[in-house]
Amino acid sequence: MKTIGLLGGMSWHSTELYYRLLNEGVQQRLGGLHSARILLASVDFAEIAELQATDQWEQAGYLLAGQAQKLELAGADFLLIGTNTMHISVPQIEREINIPILHIADATADAIIKAGYHSTGLLGTKFTMQMDYYKQRLIDRGLKVLVPDDPSCIRINDVIFDELCYGEIKPASKQDYLNFIQQLVDKGAECIIAGCTEITLLVQQADTEVRLFDTTAIHAQAAVYYALAEDD
Ligand code: GLU
Repeated sequence: MKTIGLLGGMSWHSTELYYRLLNEGVQQRLGGLHSARILLASVDFAEIAELQATDQWEQAGYLLAGQAQKLELAGADFLLIGTNTMHISVPQIEREINIPILHIADATADAIIKAGYHSTGLLGTKFTMQMDYYKQRLIDRGLKVLVPDDPSCIRINDVIFDELCYGEIKPASKQDYLNFIQQLVDKGAECIIAGCTEITLLVQQADTEVRLFDTTAIHAQAAVYYALAEDD
């Protein structure tokens, strides 16, 4: 079994989910007392969020690359970055390490395509919804990507940073998210990406008829698969 290097803390509420899902996945596959080999580097999210808010992406990438290097040195065989947003730093991190990064958008695109969908709505931080680093990766795989209008993006982003990253779940926010999902479906989305690793705390598949792709679960499942794959 390969050792997973998990770059987490963004926020810790979703890292907690990753930890559970990775262990459950390995135990399901191998049975008995098996569990995942994980090295965790958990950052102080206040620092990262501040750099995001002030557009200091280079500095945020530098900080994460340093953590990734530590994981590699400690023996991680591959890297899992437990946030959609900070995949913006993947090119920068890749330059500093020699182990592969299991990209969350690639794993998600694979799952959507395998399920037979061609167009998807995308919910996430305003960075993920409005910048190109994530959407383009999906478009390159042949998917059509729809995002909410600007005022909706602001509300979705505020719920992530002011509630979900504090572990707060509010019914009014859940209803708003369900409305945003319906609006994207009305615009032509066949399915929805929960493209922020905390969204699954607020909205789950049981809440909607629309097919939801939970990036936290997909990413963790892809990591389990990769960790247990036979080497070529
Ligand atoms: N965990 C979130 C994501 O998946 C947001 C936190 C962050 O900005 O990194 O994008």
